[in-house]
Amino acid sequence: MTKKLLTVLSVLLLSAHLHAQPKLSENIVVITMDGLRWQEVFGGADSLLSFDTAAAYSTGYIGEKFWAPGADARREKLMPFFWSTLRKQGVLLGNRNYGNNFNNANPYWFSYPGYNEIFTGYPDTAVNSNDKIPNKNETVFEFLNKLPEYKGKTVVFGSWDVYASIFNEGRSGLLVNDGFRDLGGKLNEKQVWLNRLQYEMPAIFHGGERLDVATFQIGFEYMKVNKPKLIYFGLGDCDEFAHAGVYDAYLDAAQNFDDWIRQLWEYIQSTPAYRDKTTILITTDHGRGLAEGGNWKHHGQRIPEASEMWMAAIGPSVKPVGEAKTKQQAYQGQIAATIAALLGKQFTPAHKPLPVLKLD
Ligand SMILES: [Zn+2]
Repeated sequence: MTKKLLTVLSVLLLSAHLHAQPKLSENIVVITMDGLRWQEVFGGADSLLSFDTAAAYSTGYIGEKFWAPGADARREKLMPFFWSTLRKQGVLLGNRNYGNNFNNANPYWFSYPGYNEIFTGYPDTAVNSNDKIPNKNETVFEFLNKLPEYKGKTVVFGSWDVYASIFNEGRSGLLVNDGFRDLGGKLNEKQVWLNRLQYEMPAIFHGGERLDVATFQIGFEYMKVNKPKLIYFGLGDCDEFAHAGVYDAYLDAAQNFDDWIRQLWEYIQSTPAYRDKTTILITTDHGRGLAEGGNWKHHGQRIPEASEMWMAAIGPSVKPVGEAKTKQQAYQGQIAATIAALLGKQFTPAHKPLPVLKLD
């Protein structure tokens, strides 16, 4: 055997060894923004929508705050944390300009089927409405919450009042704080104030959905006080503002989302209970249509592009590949098994979930 071949073999063995022992996480944070398009994540403010002279929103505001010539500069303006820290230390999937595709596997392309797919790992065609039907399928959070290390340390905070059904609160016993709902238990002064504040904000979505700032702050304060091991933030402002056709507010919501993830990451990396052992997974429940013909406002089966999505991750279990540019097809349904795998567990629900996504 030549010396060169030996060197090649030892390098191969070393990399095989490293891959055999991916660094596990002890905590997982999942954060989703309902209906935030991959087009904005990877390209910033859309050029057609930013200069639409017939728009019912302020293109002047968009021009000042979000516009720059060139998609790279625009995405950095819109989501500065994604395109600095997360790009350097994490991974971003779903830039279709490189053939890196991330999609819904379910055929519906709206919210409950999407969240069901993310958290149960199975694109169940029986989950086909947004009605408040307690989910028959087990989520990976429900599964993990049965294990001693996660029992009572698995929590869900959501803006939309359907999360209690998606996570089957009654059966799973998870702490779910969604819609307009007080956080219970022993509370500090800030938590009492946040409980009240959610009702004093404008209820602009005219239903059971509060503004994301209430959801995020209630969840973030709970995280600081209680140190849960599995935490989900389900946010929704982007979807609501897109349906309402207000692109300026949609962009603002995307930027707030980016900054909340920065705050979460900085908190995680400065807190011993979380530092270097917590991975954040970030995604959406579905895509939306193109700017042309106003289809960006809509999603669902009628809109051909509405299954096009994205996903990002940062943490010790994630290889820092940055913006993924390899041809690949991945699905949101792979996230459930991946959450368990990152913790060194295997998720085996009644319906076999889609395979683990390789992030290490
Ligand atoms: Zn949705």
